[in-house]
Amino acid sequence: MIKDSLLPKGLKPLSLPDFSGIEAEQLVSVLKKCEQGRGEEVLKNFEDDFKKLVQSDYCIPVSSATSGLHLALLALGIAEDDEVICPTFTFAASAFPILYQKAIPVFVDSDEDSWNISPEHLESAIKARLSAGKKPKAIIIVHSYGNPAQLNLLLNIASNYKIPIIEDAANALGSTFNQRQVGTFGSIGVFSFNRNKIISGGAGGCVVTHDSILADKMRYFAHQAKSKQDYYHHEEVGYNYGLSPVLAEIIRIQLTTLQARIKKRKAVFQEYFHKYNPETTFQKEIDNAFSNRWLTVLKFKEPKISSPEYHHVWKPLHTQPVFNRYPYFGNKESEGFFENGICLPFSK
Ligand SMILES: *Cc1c(COP(=O)(O)O)cnc(C)c1O
Repeated sequence: MIKDSLLPKGLKPLSLPDFSGIEAEQLVSVLKKCEQGRGEEVLKNFEDDFKKLVQSDYCIPVSSATSGLHLALLALGIAEDDEVICPTFTFAASAFPILYQKAIPVFVDSDEDSWNISPEHLESAIKARLSAGKKPKAIIIVHSYGNPAQLNLLLNIASNYKIPIIEDAANALGSTFNQRQVGTFGSIGVFSFNRNKIISGGAGGCVVTHDSILADKMRYFAHQAKSKQDYYHHEEVGYNYGLSPVLAEIIRIQLTTLQARIKKRKAVFQEYFHKYNPETTFQKEIDNAFSNRWLTVLKFKEPKISSPEYHHVWKPLHTQPVFNRYPYFGNKESEGFFENGICLPFSK
C-alpha cells in the first residue's frame, strides 16, 4: 500500500470550463445572427476556423463527441453483428456508439508507455478475429487524456489489414504527432467541447475527415437523413446531431487561445511530475508526439488505498457489466492502471 500522505486531499473538479476572453457583445451578436436566420453562416465560420487549425479537409460540427463517433460508424457502414476494435482503457463514450449500431466491440488493452491501444495486442486481436472468420470493420483508437497513441505503428497495421481507423481525439485538441494534429491521421477523427475538455462550449463536438464521401454521409446522418429532393424525403434513419450555432461561436472564439491553454496544462503536469516522479510512472509521450496534457494520470508501483479524496482513472471497459461479455485481447495492463493509478485535477 502506498502512503496516504502521497495522495491528493480534497476532491477538486478535474477540469472546469474557462470562458475568459469571451465578450458579452460577441454573445449578443451570435444571438442576433440566429434571429436573422444566419445560423448556417455561423456554423460555416466555425468549420472554416477549425479546419484551418487542425489541417483537415472537412469538418462537421456535432452536438457531442459521442454523436460524432456514432456518425463515424454510420458513415463507415458499421451495422448489426459487425466487429469494431476499441481500446478497453477509455471512457465508455468511445464504445457506446458501437452498441447503438448493435455491433460488437472487441476490446484491446494498452501499452505501458503511452497507456493507449497496444500495437501488439491490436495485431493479435485482428489475427484472432480473422481466423474466427470475422474481419473487424473498423478500429477506434483513443488519445487518452490527450496523449497521442502510437500512430505510426497503428496506421501501418490498419493499412496492412485494410481496416479504417476512427480516432477518438475527444481529449486531444492541440496534441500532435510528427507536428500534425492527432485526429487527422485516420479515416475520421472526433473532438469534444464538453464541459471539462481543453476548449469547451459547455457541450459540443466535431468530426473531421479528408474524405468527401465520408463527410457527406456524416452530415446527412447528423441532419435527419434528408435526401437531396426538394421535399422531405427519407430513405434511412436519421439523427439530430447538429451543433447549436451559439455553442459553435463560443467554441470558435476560444480556438485562438488553444496554445495558451496547453501551456497552462503543461505547467500543471510539470508540477505534478516533480512532486510524484520518484514513486510513480506517468503517461509517456512517444517519439515525435506532443501531448496537450489535458489531465495528468499516474501509476504508483503498488495498489493505492481507496479514498474519496482523489479521482480514479478510467475503469477498463472489458471489466464493466455493460461490456464484459465481449471479446478482449491483452494482458490486463489497464487493470493495473485502474488499481494503482490516479487522475489529478487540472482545476486547482
Ligand atoms: C469526453 C470524452 C468523450 C465524449 O465526449 P462528449 O462530447 O462528452 O460526448 C469521448 N471519448 C473520450 C475519450 C472522452 O474523454
